[in-house]
Amino acid sequence: MSHYPVAGTWTSCPACGRHVHQSQWGRWQQCPYCHYWRRLPAVDRITQLVDPGSFTALTTTVQSQNRLDFPNYDEKLRQAKLKTAQTEAVITGQATFAKWPAIVIVMDSYFMMGTLNTSVTRLIIAAMQQARKQKLPVIIVTASGGARMQEGLYALVGMNLILAEVARLAAAKLPLITVLTDPTMGGVSASFAFKGDVVIAEAGATIGFAGARVIQQTMPTTLPADFQSAASLLAHGQLDAVVLRPELRAYLSQVLATYQLSGGPTHG
Ligand SMILES: [Zn+2]
Repeated sequence: MSHYPVAGTWTSCPACGRHVHQSQWGRWQQCPYCHYWRRLPAVDRITQLVDPGSFTALTTTVQSQNRLDFPNYDEKLRQAKLKTAQTEAVITGQATFAKWPAIVIVMDSYFMMGTLNTSVTRLIIAAMQQARKQKLPVIIVTASGGARMQEGLYALVGMNLILAEVARLAAAKLPLITVLTDPTMGGVSASFAFKGDVVIAEAGATIGFAGARVIQQTMPTTLPADFQSAASLLAHGQLDAVVLRPELRAYLSQVLATYQLSGGPTHG
């Protein structure tokens, strides 16, 4: 486990504020006091989800550029790379889930809040193209604040480019499974996050478009306490399931098994 948000042995829980010892967070990274699920770095998410040793990263290389000359963007990129030891806010690769193979795309909220930019778009598209080449299902784990404002329109275009690729997956009869984790917001929720054939969310995730605070400032009404929660979205028919973190792997294996056993890519 990499634990890159952790500086020392003790960290305060972002939800309840209690001091929690490293060992208390445990394997699933859950607060022992308020049961908050801590946001996972992409590498830890992959470790939790896939069969041990089965992950092979795709070799697409990207180099993000400050094309709009946005103030401090270069520095923010540098810091994010340093913190995560990644070149961008997503990790892509191939892995198995209880022996069932899939292409895996995992966004990382610790890299500039998992925001979608030209490089992240390119990595996601390359992974989906690989899926078509190998006739494999795609699993995307979203964790993103939305489009990266430092890349303006270039970032927004990524929403459509990815949706076009999602359509090609559908035409090839390859299933897309999206796993919405905390947070899934903005341009990511407004594009591919809900475009899966199966759309599930991790329990406790906040999922929406604009943040609750922004909405509250522009609306004269009080928002419900469960606003933008995974449970509320499930109740309103937006999700197929809300799954607890320790059960995600088994759930995804089940979906992949159902797909393969029903005939795989040749199945109508
Ligand atoms: Zn807590």
